[in-house]
Amino acid sequence: MPPTRTVKDYIRTIVDFPHEGIMFRDVTTLFADPRGFRMAIDQMLNPYAGMEIDMVVGLEARGFILGGAIAHQLSVGFVPVRKKGKLPGAVISEDYQLEYGEAVVEIHDDAIEAGDKVLLVDDLLATGGTAEAGIKLIERLGGEIVGCAFIVDLPELGGRKRIEALGMDVHTLCE
Ligand code: IMP
Repeated sequence: MPPTRTVKDYIRTIVDFPHEGIMFRDVTTLFADPRGFRMAIDQMLNPYAGMEIDMVVGLEARGFILGGAIAHQLSVGFVPVRKKGKLPGAVISEDYQLEYGEAVVEIHDDAIEAGDKVLLVDDLLATGGTAEAGIKLIERLGGEIVGCAFIVDLPELGGRKRIEALGMDVHTLCE
């Protein structure tokens, strides 16, 4: 029998993307495979079985693909956190630092009600800056974050520690 493939086996690495010296972990090959994609969604949800979750928030852009599938599985709604200027309604914003410069993410100001239990999802945790900005947006609207789930953790960049230091439960599938 061939060895069982794990989630990590479906992820490929693209060297020098988007800049020279970067090893980009490309999850599109995981998403494109029916077994891989289902395995990833199931494993992202594992720790939250039986927990009350009112909505899934996904971070642009691959967090939308995961978040839509996870929200469907949970029969709850999906809310996007988008880059500045993309959402049509009234928004609140958070700035965060990138390696070079700053970025801004936004959420509709009526997307979450105080007390809503939220699962935050994205494909990859690097420095944790993007996830931290998403967490701040959710918390400013009064959402209670049940967990933060990612496929990939890049531990050398410290994102998990940074997000755990905010008091969050962090769930990742591979390093
Ligand atoms: P952070 O804010 O430094 O944690 O970076 C995480 C964000 O950048 C996530 O939204 C990821 O989708 C994206 N990202 C950073 N590096 C990679 C990578 O190697 N593969 C896929 N996405 C990445």
